[in-house]
Amino acid sequence: MAATPTTIAAIATAHGRGGIGVVRLSGRDLGGIARAILDRAPDPRRATHTRFLDAEGNVLDDGIALFFPAPHSYTGEDVLELQGHGGMAVLQLVLARCLELGAVPAEPGEFTRRAFLNGKMDLAQAESVADLIDAATAQGARSAMRALQGEFSDVVHALVDKLIHLRMLTEAMLDFPEEELDTVDFTRHQSGLNELAEALAHTLAVARQGALLREGAHVVLVGQPNVGKSSLLNRLSGEEVALVSEIPGTTRDVIRQAIQIAGVPLHIVDTAGLREAQDTVEQMGIARTHGAVAQADMVLLVVDAAVGLGAEEERIIAALPAGVPSVRVFNKIDLSGEAGRAETADHGYSVYLSAKTGEGMELLREKLLDAIGWRSEAGVFMARARHLQALTQAQAHVARAAEVIGQMELMAEELRLAQQALNTITGEFTSDDLLGRIFGSFCIGK
Ligand code: GDP
Repeated sequence: MAATPTTIAAIATAHGRGGIGVVRLSGRDLGGIARAILDRAPDPRRATHTRFLDAEGNVLDDGIALFFPAPHSYTGEDVLELQGHGGMAVLQLVLARCLELGAVPAEPGEFTRRAFLNGKMDLAQAESVADLIDAATAQGARSAMRALQGEFSDVVHALVDKLIHLRMLTEAMLDFPEEELDTVDFTRHQSGLNELAEALAHTLAVARQGALLREGAHVVLVGQPNVGKSSLLNRLSGEEVALVSEIPGTTRDVIRQAIQIAGVPLHIVDTAGLREAQDTVEQMGIARTHGAVAQADMVLLVVDAAVGLGAEEERIIAALPAGVPSVRVFNKIDLSGEAGRAETADHGYSVYLSAKTGEGMELLREKLLDAIGWRSEAGVFMARARHLQALTQAQAHVARAAEVIGQMELMAEELRLAQQALNTITGEFTSDDLLGRIFGSFCIGK
């Protein structure tokens, strides 16, 4: 694809003070700009210590220039990096000089967008650049890096190869006379489809893990006053589990708290934080109108172990949306004298613990992760909702193809659609609209 003709420039390092600040440029030909702003012409791919000059030849800053001529650069175009001092004013001066020389300010994600358009990376890799930058946990960062290295893309390509093979088998038979089709052996089609369905299911399972790492799970915390909900939450966020951040966009009297367990973000809506209502079921009603209960991936019901499930808990349980798994916590076992343990019941897990002494907390963490579907980080690549959707679509088309074996045209069409769905992941078939949405969420300078 052709490179975009304009030259873009941006401060690529984070806003604020820092030891070093980088202004980055990308364009078809940066020779002129480089000669004008630098004291000397930079050698390709070599760190050059130089001064950065304004139009009158005054020194704006002094630092390192790195010049990557096309096509061997991040974007595939000429790229120039000016590494100077990390102060906002000085960086703004250097950026202003670049703009004066004809560059335009880069849009968010525009460098990576150009890298994608110039074939330097596919769309799944480009998305993982943003995911790597946004990753709040080590596990998230590692899995984003796996996707950036192309592990996810390789899996998708392998699936597409299998599909292409099947499409060839199928399309070769499109011209077969109808009456002879009865005598054709479709075992190869059948086994190819089975193999594909299996590979898709496996990929979807891994991608779901990746999406969990990226998006986390929504957990609603319910229970009567004084059963120890706040203590439990403090325990969960206090220990090994780090407090990540409040979800942006919520107000000061937040009822949401983000924690992470083993790197998996959990967005907890604490109904105890819904101060307006006294009654727990009423609080849940409010949470429901906030969309929290409706969106919940799991409900965490806290009960006093010495008291057990009572009429109020039954009322709470009855008010829960159907089909959402729940974990019941029987708290304060230090008072009831029970041992920390976990049990499995129809509704899900029951965990007996003490938020005060910490006994049983490890079991709770384990069961919480299990209840939201987390297995392990091994080999997981970060994935997004749109990837899951594409994989699910491909799965549906493959399933339909299996239903119409022998009806060559229908089968060929389903397989074509399955491939099209998979291609949206790597971006071989993607609308401008979608690209705008994906790159619009990047930071400027990346
Ligand atoms: P909430 O109203 O459900 O949020 O309950 P809190 O977390 O505020 O706890 C109510 C009271 O129970 C506080 O005095 C806590 O110190 C106490 N508490 C919480 N968990 C335990 C526990 O496991 N054992 C004991 N003995 N007391 C607890």
